[in-house]
Amino acid sequence: MEELKDKLFSKKNVGWENMETRQKEEIFNFCKGYMDYLNKAKTEREFIKQAKIVADENGFKDISEFNELKPGDRVYFINREKSMYLAVIGKNKMENGLHIIGSHVDSPRLDLKPNPLYEDSGFAYFKTHYYGGIKKYQWTAIPLSIHGVIVKPSGEKIEVNVGESDTDPIFTITDLLPHLAQEQMEKKLKNGVEGEALNLLIGSIPMDGEKVSEKVKLNILNILNQKYGVVEEDLYSAELELVPAFKARTLGFDESMVAAYGQDDKICAYTSLMAMMNLENVENTAVCILSDKEEIGSMGNTGMESHMFDYFVSELLNKTGENRVNLLDKVFCYSKMLSSDVDAGFDPIYANVSDKNNAGFLGKGIALVKYTGSRGKAGASDANAEFVAWVRNMLDKNEIKYQLTELGKVDIGGGGTIAYILANKGVDVIDCGIPVLSMHAPYEVTSKFDIYEAFRIYKAFWNE
Ligand code: MN
Ligand code: MN
Repeated sequence: MEELKDKLFSKKNVGWENMETRQKEEIFNFCKGYMDYLNKAKTEREFIKQAKIVADENGFKDISEFNELKPGDRVYFINREKSMYLAVIGKNKMENGLHIIGSHVDSPRLDLKPNPLYEDSGFAYFKTHYYGGIKKYQWTAIPLSIHGVIVKPSGEKIEVNVGESDTDPIFTITDLLPHLAQEQMEKKLKNGVEGEALNLLIGSIPMDGEKVSEKVKLNILNILNQKYGVVEEDLYSAELELVPAFKARTLGFDESMVAAYGQDDKICAYTSLMAMMNLENVENTAVCILSDKEEIGSMGNTGMESHMFDYFVSELLNKTGENRVNLLDKVFCYSKMLSSDVDAGFDPIYANVSDKNNAGFLGKGIALVKYTGSRGKAGASDANAEFVAWVRNMLDKNEIKYQLTELGKVDIGGGGTIAYILANKGVDVIDCGIPVLSMHAPYEVTSKFDIYEAFRIYKAFWNE
């Protein structure tokens, strides 16, 4: 009977079981690289900056440096410092289809408003507008750092990064003491901290001697002027983002997990980027998408909804000499894609939101999500059974652990990724990412086992 069960039941055991020490070391080493990278790349601009360094070190070159492309060439295109497409040109013609892996490098955060700076009761603050789906109360009373750019009308770009080094000051958003929070505590959790209350505390010393109002604000502007050469109006043309000042850390006595900000979706971006760096000769052209703006709907010219990706693929076709009228449509129709975005990990503390039979568990390998969406799969690009079978075959051949999952119980909620955007072009797409606990919180949790499995699956897919 046990034998029959073993033959017929699907296998869902934990990846750590009976693991050799050497393999565990390999996983831990890989994840150390991941955590180091995360500490240098908390925003989309920083992620792309690091990705360029990594790609340059691995023989990739900007597409503008190529007059023509041939099999084996390693090429990238960076879109406005916030998104990036990389490719290794395959032996097969591109009209036979590309192998695409797509993730996003933006994460939920707080952005500064265009007129952020004000003074109230002896304190100076920056006003913020949150970016992406957050639980606002999670962003108070934690250390925050400021990352981004200020661009002056002359075009001069000033990079800002304050709060990461141990000698830097940090910033925070204050919360009400429990002693006086009776009214607040009676509110619904989503209204406990209002969006307009997410004001960042940035200073409290008034400027000396002057007979003017708003002396604390003046003092802050004076500091910013001395440090960056900017005036208040320069904040109009700035993109300043507040992110947690935490470092990525190993989690647990057994050191099996990673806790870090922005793992959605830098975890899939990093693992796919590393997999691409490891490619040698590929049959089909391998394409890695690192997109922006996914957390606010993939709109805009750095988001996946823009035509920038089509432009990149057209340029590949032009430079391989393959292009002809309407070929781009054919290329997409014959392409395959793993939409590599994180999945909701099953959390036993909040077990009631998940269907245990269809939930993604940490440590059980990559989660394949056939469809996302909500309220009856609405908005989902449901992957074809034929394509799911193709992916299963690829995973089985490479002995890669995976699970087929859904994001939560039916009608409890839902979510989406960039999968449907490529599917709408005709690409065969399935979501394929890493399960995360506390997704979208300032500190997210993942399993090191899954991180390494993701790296393996992305490599295997491109080598297929
Ligand atoms: Mn995501
Ligand atoms: Mn997300």
